[in-house]
Amino acid sequence: MCKTIGIIGGGQLGLMLAEEAALLGARTVCLDPAADAPAFRVANSSIAAAFDDADALEKLCRQSDVITYEFENVPSRLLIELERKYNIPQGFEPLFDAQDRVREKRNALANGLQTPQFAEVNDEASLLAAIEQVGYPCVFKTRTLGYDGHGQAVLRCAEDIAKVKNLIDTPAILEQFVPFDYEASIVMVSDGKDIIHFPIGRNVHRDGILDLCFVPAQMSQTVQNQLIAGSKEFMRRCGYRGILAIEYFVRGNQVLFNEMAPRPHNSGHYTIEGCTTNQFRELARFLLGKPLQSPQLVAPTVMKNILGEDFDVAQCIAKQGLNNVFVHLYGKTECRPKRKMGHITFVGEEAVGTMAQWDFAATTNPQK
Ligand code: AMP
Repeated sequence: MCKTIGIIGGGQLGLMLAEEAALLGARTVCLDPAADAPAFRVANSSIAAAFDDADALEKLCRQSDVITYEFENVPSRLLIELERKYNIPQGFEPLFDAQDRVREKRNALANGLQTPQFAEVNDEASLLAAIEQVGYPCVFKTRTLGYDGHGQAVLRCAEDIAKVKNLIDTPAILEQFVPFDYEASIVMVSDGKDIIHFPIGRNVHRDGILDLCFVPAQMSQTVQNQLIAGSKEFMRRCGYRGILAIEYFVRGNQVLFNEMAPRPHNSGHYTIEGCTTNQFRELARFLLGKPLQSPQLVAPTVMKNILGEDFDVAQCIAKQGLNNVFVHLYGKTECRPKRKMGHITFVGEEAVGTMAQWDFAATTNPQK
């Protein structure tokens, strides 16, 4: 019988999950506050309501056989309540652990991972004490609701404290600034017994937002083994089920946990065409109780995020229908700078080689 997956959140992650669920013969129902949420175009039914609307969440759960989330800030009290009554196999716990940067890093440390040095900040006095402990340069981040570099500032000297004056009474974390060689991430899916993982991505960020993801990640075998083994051990020790992405900073042979997300991850979008199975399909398989498949990389792959400023170039590439270049546009109705509008996956050396000819985010683009 056809099962229904309920998805809390209707952004691009919900959209791609709904697409894969359909391929596995499942229905989807999706909840999002925006009436024009991307996932509403492909979900079988949709509920336009706020994430803290208890009745709407209950309605979503009643219509679903199994529920997942692609939005990370679902209010904890509501989700805990729902978990008691409905089938939410990932549970609230990984979301809870990820919702607060201090809790997230303490949890990482407690479960075998290394993190940059950090301290909790609640006011001016604790900020000064944290700077004393961590030293300059350091990174100030709000504890909750931060994403893609929002609510963050790098402090290099005492004068920089002024940058965070307006956030001084917001609970925050102060982290050592890591002069990393590169950033890397891994996406895993666990059915509670076995954990599969996708090939590690080596990531380049632009203004705190993921820009490019290269796979296979250029890294030593030592770092690769350490990253995979540490991530799986962490997931096992935490008892998480379903999907988990972890982002790291790598410096020499040191692998430092930056953050995690218990949902499909932007750095895992390359898996749709770059691997034999992808992050959305394996999450759907987990949710539907099907055995997981282990992914293989098809060919060297690069994923390029399309932000608002890249949109014209992306449309231009889409028109060309190039071999092994896969343009995903999420159908967002409003295009803004820094807003994630889509992504492009270049699979195989030849396609990857064509990437350089595109002048993304440039005002004068010869290809336009
Ligand atoms: P986050 O939201 O924590 O993932 O931060 C966004 C991006 O800012 C990261 O991907 C890094 O490129 C950069 N960043 C964050 N924290 C640090 C840090 N402690 N040291 C150096 N760079 C950082």
